[in-house]
Amino acid sequence: MTIKILPARLANQIAAGEVVERPASVIKELVENSIDAGATDILVEIDKGGHKRMLIRDNGKGIPREELSLALSRHATSKIEDIDDLESITSLGFRGEALASISSVSRLTLTSKTEEQAEAWQAHCEGREMEIQLNPAAHPKGASVEVLDLFFNTPARRKFLRAEKTEFQHVEEIFKRIALSHFEVGFTLKHNGRVVHRFPAVVPELKDKRIAAVCGQAFLQNSIAVHGEYQNVTVTGWCNAVGQGRGTNELQYSFVNGRMMKDRVILHAIRQAFEGMIDSQTYPAFVLFITMPPEELDINVHPAKHEVRFHQSRQVHDLIYKSVSDALLLSASTDALEFEN
Ligand code: ADP
Ligand code: MG
Repeated sequence: MTIKILPARLANQIAAGEVVERPASVIKELVENSIDAGATDILVEIDKGGHKRMLIRDNGKGIPREELSLALSRHATSKIEDIDDLESITSLGFRGEALASISSVSRLTLTSKTEEQAEAWQAHCEGREMEIQLNPAAHPKGASVEVLDLFFNTPARRKFLRAEKTEFQHVEEIFKRIALSHFEVGFTLKHNGRVVHRFPAVVPELKDKRIAAVCGQAFLQNSIAVHGEYQNVTVTGWCNAVGQGRGTNELQYSFVNGRMMKDRVILHAIRQAFEGMIDSQTYPAFVLFITMPPEELDINVHPAKHEVRFHQSRQVHDLIYKSVSDALLLSASTDALEFEN
């Protein structure tokens, strides 16, 4: 075979393999877009675990009519302009790939209205077709993305979709994680026409409310509050040794600068703080928020942005270890006091 440049659609479909694994990954990308657009209210509506239909509606700033087609193109983003921006990213997205990827493996409709526009506009595309049609539509300020028939044109991928219930569980898990990452945003999740979760926006002082709603009252009651800072890094959150068995729906949530992520450094530090208190089969449960200057962090490690790399990973580790250890000590001493009284 001779060397050829792949047609855009095919290139997008290949790229989609990295970002769009299942309905939950679609939800993650689209809800993150809504958060980046400054939405304060986000509705996620799915049918049949997301296989059939997913709709994400927000009240963010929207996309102007003349940018709708562009938003669906690969490497099109309003979030970074040059390599320096990549060093200090504050938005959740920046790769300009999600909408292009998702629209290449589904039937996607993007509807939006900006503050300035008198009417809303809609762009529709189906899988491989390149032509994007724009039509007037009805929509309040904000944006909606409807995704039908995920992987309809990539049967090999479609085969990997699991039963409705399993896919829904993945969606629910991602939804909860995102709800923990942005308290100031109200989130609603509907499945097959029924409201499954509704988390109203809360002010920072009432974070506990969101934690209890998402993680359960028991988690909050069993947990100790963690707080620590070192130079310009802060760690706050909750953790407990009640834990859960490994792998089974563990309640282990960590966030860096409002971005949900999994990281071995964090996990290791927490485990170390709990050493001697729990056996090796039990994993502590935690919700931990880390904030640091964006320059001290590399988020461009993985296409789905699940991972980050800390430039000063030892310092972050030690700060978490110390914060959790201090919290455990404090709670042990107050327990002892209560016991004496
Ligand atoms: P990225 O988020 O990496 O920029 P996406 O493909 O997810 O790439 O989105 C492309 C662009 O479309 C974004 O940069 C943004 O300008 C616009 N966009 C996507 N979703 C929304 C939304 N819900 N509200 C407003 N603008 C959006
Ligand atoms: Mg995005």
